[in-house]
Amino acid sequence: MNCSFNFRAEKAFDLKYYQSLPNDTLVERIEAVRGKMGSRLLVLAHHYQKDSIIALSDLQGDSYKLCELAAKHEQCEAIVFSGVHFMAETADILANRPEQLQRRGGKRVPVVLPDLDAGCSLAEMANIEVLESCWNELGEVIDVSEITPITYVNSTAAIKSFCGARGGIVCTSANAAAVLDWAFAQRRRVLFLPDQHLGRNTALAMGIPVEEMALWDPRQDKLGGNDAESIGRARVILWHGHCSVHQLFRPADIEKARRADPQVKIIVHPECPREVVELADASGSTGMIIDAVTASPAGTHWAVGTELNLVNRLKNRFADKQVDFLSSEIGICPTMYRIDLAHLCWALENLAADTPVNVIRVDDDVARDALTALERMLEVR
Ligand code: SF4
Repeated sequence: MNCSFNFRAEKAFDLKYYQSLPNDTLVERIEAVRGKMGSRLLVLAHHYQKDSIIALSDLQGDSYKLCELAAKHEQCEAIVFSGVHFMAETADILANRPEQLQRRGGKRVPVVLPDLDAGCSLAEMANIEVLESCWNELGEVIDVSEITPITYVNSTAAIKSFCGARGGIVCTSANAAAVLDWAFAQRRRVLFLPDQHLGRNTALAMGIPVEEMALWDPRQDKLGGNDAESIGRARVILWHGHCSVHQLFRPADIEKARRADPQVKIIVHPECPREVVELADASGSTGMIIDAVTASPAGTHWAVGTELNLVNRLKNRFADKQVDFLSSEIGICPTMYRIDLAHLCWALENLAADTPVNVIRVDDDVARDALTALERMLEVR
């Protein structure tokens, strides 16, 4: 890539230097790079980012929307992703898929994650070696050709690749039900990774009873803590993973909100535990939560069970409605929060000077099958 502007001295590219700068200066310098690179640069930001980062992005969305944007955006020469590691991997796979590379004469679009420590604790709960052991163990008690592996987009590229290579698919919280429908049209069982709550809540909403589900805990020695009979009965095998943010919400939070205002509407993300989703008035993806609050009449009172930055943004946006955070505990995603102005400025100025840092590059072998699983997801509505 060649997008050098040479407008900073070399010492300026040390992260510590950026961390010593005041926020006003960082914002000014970030805007300068964005202005100079223009449409060659695409800055994406997940809805859970803080306001200061959202304000410096071109496009915002939840995981599904950002996947679509990375797949569709054909003109940019570089992507900076204010999100977490698995999102940057997904953007790399979609932005550099074979037909796009061919169209650009082999030139890759680098995808930069401003802080490499911005991971996702949920994605890290499923690693490929442990999944391969699980698959082998399942093969000892059931026919694995009857299983469609589904992975939530919040997973590593290696897990997506595993699914793609075995007729499986990726889902997001926005299309999980449609993906499960698709999977059951192919085969009679699914293995759902890595978020047990999204898998269970979606399957229950489709009428699959808990008796036809098994929870696979990879820390258990034998069959993920199950016996052969329960695995044989299971149509849905759920991986024992959870989101540390959404796991915090409790039925007591809903009871408290309703005691304070019986008219309150409770809306939660499907990564919340089953008992929370069942008590709520509605559940849905981040995008669906935003749409529901946006479409509600003035005067509506909402208590929202998802990440705190997003809830606060909704609260500030709709002065004519009351929007509260559902829990009294802190609900910020600690890894998403790692993306700050200093990291963003450091990453952008290095990119502009043609010395990109923190470029996320998925191995071609992994990317090929992961792309298959992602493309299946993008086709399922
Ligand atoms: S909110 Fe949960 S699922 Fe989303 S990035 Fe943070 S830890 Fe991962």
